[in-house]
Amino acid sequence: MAAIAPFYFSWSALLVFLVLTPISTLSVTLCYHRLLTHRSFDTPKWFEYLLTIVTTLSWQGGPMTWVGNHRIHHKYSDMEGDPHTPNDGFSWSHLWWMLFNSPDDPRKVTLDLQRDNVMVWIDKLFWLPQVVLGIVLYYTLGLECLLWGVGLRTVCVFHFTWFVNSAAHTWGYRNFETNDNSRNLWWVAILSFGEGWHNNHHHQQSSAQHGMMPGEFDFTYQVIRFLEKVGLASKVIQPRP
Ligand SMILES: [Zn+2]
Ligand SMILES: [Zn+2]
Repeated sequence: MAAIAPFYFSWSALLVFLVLTPISTLSVTLCYHRLLTHRSFDTPKWFEYLLTIVTTLSWQGGPMTWVGNHRIHHKYSDMEGDPHTPNDGFSWSHLWWMLFNSPDDPRKVTLDLQRDNVMVWIDKLFWLPQVVLGIVLYYTLGLECLLWGVGLRTVCVFHFTWFVNSAAHTWGYRNFETNDNSRNLWWVAILSFGEGWHNNHHHQQSSAQHGMMPGEFDFTYQVIRFLEKVGLASKVIQPRP
């Protein structure tokens, strides 16, 4: 498949991007966030490990780091100690915070994951699945598919996740009076498959369902309901009335 300079476009590269981007986006919200951080539902262990390995393809760090940072965010939301509050600047909350260590140690709040040896190994080798995917794409489909399927996808999913930390703590409406600036923002909910209903989530952190009001479509919750129907999810935590 010939590349068209300078954009390295090919239809197969676009297809790879359109298939892998939703998988990466969903894995972050479904696995790192709702499953590993908040334990909003249960899955068989083998499925939890598989989901975690798929989520490492988002390149957002291993499960310990991601879960640790997010639990610290909930502990100190928009206060001193929050790793990514817009109170320290919008661009800080969106991306720059990632270049620095969290003010608190993520290991202190991930003891449950550290007791699981398989999870510890996935965490140590979190970079490996992405490297393997890159090599496979390059040698089977070519450079364009590597650039679109790894490079562009990773950057897009980064921003989808980052908007939850920045935009959904800055703009939007609030259904609940929480002790932070969390907001519900429809376009972030679309990009991040339901994570944009962030004020609802801060109000009821363990609920598997983030979109709680009419019109608040939550794709990830629909996936969890599907997994429940096929026997891959159980003990799904519902929002309090
Ligand atoms: Zn938040
Ligand atoms: Zn959360």
